[in-house]
Amino acid sequence: MSKSFFVDTTVCTACRACQVACKQWHDLPADVTTNRGFYQNPKDLSFTTYKVVRMSEKVIDGKMRWLFFPEQCRHCMEPPCRDTAGEESAIYSDSATGAVIYTAKTKGLKVKEITESCPYNIPRAKKDGTMAKCDMCLDRVQNGLLPACVKTCPTGAMTFGARDEMLALAKKRLQEVQAKYPKASLIDPNDVRVIYLVAFEPKEYHAFAVASADSVGISRQVALRKMARPLTRFVQAL
Ligand code: SF4
Ligand code: SF4
Ligand code: SF4
Repeated sequence: MSKSFFVDTTVCTACRACQVACKQWHDLPADVTTNRGFYQNPKDLSFTTYKVVRMSEKVIDGKMRWLFFPEQCRHCMEPPCRDTAGEESAIYSDSATGAVIYTAKTKGLKVKEITESCPYNIPRAKKDGTMAKCDMCLDRVQNGLLPACVKTCPTGAMTFGARDEMLALAKKRLQEVQAKYPKASLIDPNDVRVIYLVAFEPKEYHAFAVASADSVGISRQVALRKMARPLTRFVQAL
């Protein structure tokens, strides 16, 4: 059954339990970090960090705010990274859940093009070109378990389940949050399987929280790429 996450950032405390659980389940090493005089750590996603809780301090409407954003792959409905790769054995969407999966065969693909195709700046590569990112904990989900990050979240900020249920939950919670924060919104709910609820403008959280403003939108990007593919093949065949 098609799956989705609902991430309610308004109840996230930035405890980072999800970050640690992700590392633990995937047996990933810690990244080397430095004290940057800031609470967020590590600084960014990496080949061995699939989840990072982004934090920013902002003055919004005259009040100091701490904004927390548990970042991960959005498992797009029509993933631009998958379509850019054009190689199903390397990047594919799981037919049952919709999880977008990267395999070891990403090594040898065009890293720059694939990375730039992602509207949320998610994929990372190691030196040999192999790419990695969140895999929705597909092994857990296929065995009836919750993704490790969701299972671990102590505040209920993360929920996971059937897509229609997650969408309904997100819309219901949005109405409640808007009573206090009129600018609250869901980020790209129809395009992605990780649906974030934010209390303020998405761009306040970080630059790639929402699909970039100058992009033509994920759906159109994908449609344009599909239209261009036969032409590309024709040119390559010349
Ligand atoms: Fe691919 Fe980026 Fe979408 Fe994840 S968020 S499925 S990496 S395009
Ligand atoms: Fe990590 Fe699994 Fe959560 Fe993805 S779903 S961020 S792989 S713990
Ligand atoms: Fe936020 Fe939950 Fe992650 Fe803690 S575990 S940082 S509350 S999403």
